[in-house]
Amino acid sequence: MVSCTSCGVTAESPLGWTTDVTERGAQHLCDRCSRDNLRSIEGRLDPAYW
Ligand SMILES: [Zn+2]
Repeated sequence: MVSCTSCGVTAESPLGWTTDVTERGAQHLCDRCSRDNLRSIEGRLDPAYW
């Protein structure tokens, strides 16, 4: 069982999720939040890409 660090949704397996390992431990982002997160990161680099 994993829960999303961002929105708190839970899933039995983190398929398609993003896992970040930080000093505080593993942080999981669900597929949706991963996309939003990726978009905000990519958006800063290349807005035209999205
Ligand atoms: Zn989420």
